Amino acid sequence: MTGRISCVPQISVSIIGAGGNSSLVSLLLSRHGIKEIRIVDGDSVEKSNLERQTLFGINDIGLNKAEVMKNVIQRQGIFNELLAFPEYLDSVNYERLIAGTDLIIDCTDSIQTRNLINEISIKMDIPWIMTSSMEKFLEFKLIVPGKTACLNCFTEKQNLIPINCSYDNVDFYIPSLASIMAVSLFSNYYEYSSLEDCIYFLNMSDYSLTKINASRRESCSVCSKKIFPEITSKRIIGRSLY
Ligand SMILES: [Zn+2]
Repeated sequence: MTGRISCVPQISVSIIGAGGNSSLVSLLLSRHGIKEIRIVDGDSVEKSNLERQTLFGINDIGLNKAEVMKNVIQRQGIFNELLAFPEYLDSVNYERLIAGTDLIIDCTDSIQTRNLINEISIKMDIPWIMTSSMEKFLEFKLIVPGKTACLNCFTEKQNLIPINCSYDNVDFYIPSLASIMAVSLFSNYYEYSSLEDCIYFLNMSDYSLTKINASRRESCSVCSKKIFPEITSKRIIGRSLY
């Protein structure tokens, strides 16, 4: 890793999903002073979310998560451009929501949305950070179009199937840890010019971190052949396909 190259990258970050994985991402990035944060989520706060989603309180139940998250951060007086989009990212609205952003951080619990983000990243040439969690496990990866493997590079041939983070089976502290790992990838890439093409697996049952080297596949239908089935043939809204 090289030395620190700049203090704060003046970029726009789109956070997809305003649940547990994004709570500390949005807080830390806003305090870090990056130029703009967009928070995208069509879901509402439920009582069952409160254990893991640390920015929400009992009075927020029923309110849109993206708007509550924006308001919580705004009340702290941190001077970022904060935008809330109370809608699910899908194959129809993605250009409006993502245009002009420099980095996408995936904080969803949906493999379908993650595949859509991967295609958007390649099509719009925007790096993204994947976070995913289950029980006591986390996986995370930085994906930079043209420089690293994309999500489809290691899933298309079933070499590696990302875990699906349904909040029903995630230990209560794991989403906060996923947030920290996403911010660490952000910092290492933008502030230390670090670009490891690895998928990281963190197992909190024995505190082991496994790094698996990834590499771009020339036959990848998404990043090499530019075929985008999620964008062109499906409309994804939240956890459902239409
Ligand atoms: Zn690929």
